[in-house]
Amino acid sequence: MPQYDFRCNSCEARFVVSYKTFDDYETASIQCAECGAADVTRVITRVAIGKSNRDYSKMSSGEMLSVLESGDQRQVDTLFRQVGETSPKKPSSSVSNQPGPQADSARDRAQKSDSD
Ligand SMILES: [Zn+2]
Repeated sequence: MPQYDFRCNSCEARFVVSYKTFDDYETASIQCAECGAADVTRVITRVAIGKSNRDYSKMSSGEMLSVLESGDQRQVDTLFRQVGETSPKKPSSSVSNQPGPQADSARDRAQKSDSD
């Protein structure tokens, strides 16, 4: 069940709202639990998604959204890996810049043809 922390911009109270489904979160109108003001801000909490070895593929859509909204690139990358989506790949240019077997054999050929 998705749970979200909110902070009231009117009285600064903190409160938690639970939803049965993510659709409820989409459509619900949040009011402060203390003063009833509708001027509330959702507080991103990292505690719930900070666990390692989390199985993102079994997450609910609400939990996934929490990860995405957390802005934690490592968590987001892990999520995308586990759910099988393509994630931004790092350029592999650093590997090809290093001299490998092919470069050695090319140098050998160059030296042989030079001595001919
Ligand atoms: Zn309030």
